[in-house]
Amino acid sequence: MAANLLDFDLEGLAAYCDSLGEKRYRAVQLYRWIHQKGESDFERMSNLARSLRSKLAGVAEVRGLPLLSEQRSADGTVKWLFDVGAGNAVEAVYIPEDDRGTLCVSSQAGCAVGCRFCSTGHQGFSRNLSTGEIVGQLWFAEHRLRQGGTERVIDNVVMMGMGEPLQNYAALVPALRTMLDDHAYGLSRRRVTVSTSGMVTMIDRLREDCPVALAVSLHAPDDALRDQLVPLNRKDGIEALLDACLRYLEAAPRDFVTFEYCMLDGVNDAPEQAARLVQLVQGRVPCKFNLIPFNPFPASGLKRSSRERVQAFAAVLQEAGIVTTVRKTRGEDIAAACGQLAGEVQDRTRVEQRLARRREVIAVVAAAAPGGLS
Ligand code: SAH
Ligand code: SF4
Repeated sequence: MAANLLDFDLEGLAAYCDSLGEKRYRAVQLYRWIHQKGESDFERMSNLARSLRSKLAGVAEVRGLPLLSEQRSADGTVKWLFDVGAGNAVEAVYIPEDDRGTLCVSSQAGCAVGCRFCSTGHQGFSRNLSTGEIVGQLWFAEHRLRQGGTERVIDNVVMMGMGEPLQNYAALVPALRTMLDDHAYGLSRRRVTVSTSGMVTMIDRLREDCPVALAVSLHAPDDALRDQLVPLNRKDGIEALLDACLRYLEAAPRDFVTFEYCMLDGVNDAPEQAARLVQLVQGRVPCKFNLIPFNPFPASGLKRSSRERVQAFAAVLQEAGIVTTVRKTRGEDIAAACGQLAGEVQDRTRVEQRLARRREVIAVVAAAAPGGLS
């Protein structure tokens, strides 16, 4: 199969060009065409030597993810579903805000961590995405939304879609590098966030290899409860996780870690549990809390905390001087909120049929509107 140039960060592309007998500056030109202009047709890369263009056409391609659907919410949120083969699909969600645009990106089809409150976790693990499939979500979304214009649309990327990014580390890091590279998307390290359920050794590696903003999904103030909600906790425990956060901050672009905390009615939302969180982190880990209203799905058997309970919980943290925000849910009308992303892909057999039907619909629409879905 032809090499997919979306799989390479700049160093990788330079090495690939070298293998074709091409100089590094050619790799830079190519990289800029792909990521800054969204170009996938080598023939249109006008400043590349004709000989290189035809060489590339024979051995390489810029292969985006096949689009299965695009849904636009009344609040401007856009959700794309991409086909990753074998009946699996992953999603990316664009969330516009007044002063910025954020893209929520998936790292795996399914997830092996199996958190109790997460529909991706309930789905189980299917496979890791490649670097090209991770970057391809940004490549597609950015150029889709620009609609031929030159002004950047996405200036924030959060790895908060489907999957545990640190369990797909080898593909993640080159993808992050492309997001950050000035010859590609040029995003600030502070505006690229890896969200993790807390893999201690991998947090240490990320600090060494590619420090970006870090969000840690905490969800509980003690090991007994966290072991239940986030099974991965049984390996290292909260103490080791907090130590890893502290070490990370030595190299991080921000001077705090964001702790995500999914508010589950009667499970982790009592004011005493907020007080225990304060004891855990205060004076130890510079942090902010982001309280996420739980997005229910039937198989979880869990309920969303009431607004009053969330406010009371937030107040305990805030009174202790910890900056705490309550996440707005966006795109609920298109099931684009956290943990709902897998809603459509839970049942593998049904999804196979549904994807096949969607492909037919897309083929029909694409035939009727040339270029409309490219
Ligand atoms: N695997 C990573 C990143 C993907 S999940 C992680 O766990 O951090 C992104 C965020 O969505 C996490 O904070 C996760 O706890 C949250 N989340 C998962 N399921 C949810 C649900 N049903 N309702 C609200 N938030 C959820
Ligand atoms: Fe995986 Fe994150 Fe969902 Fe847990 S919350 S199952 S780590 S995607």
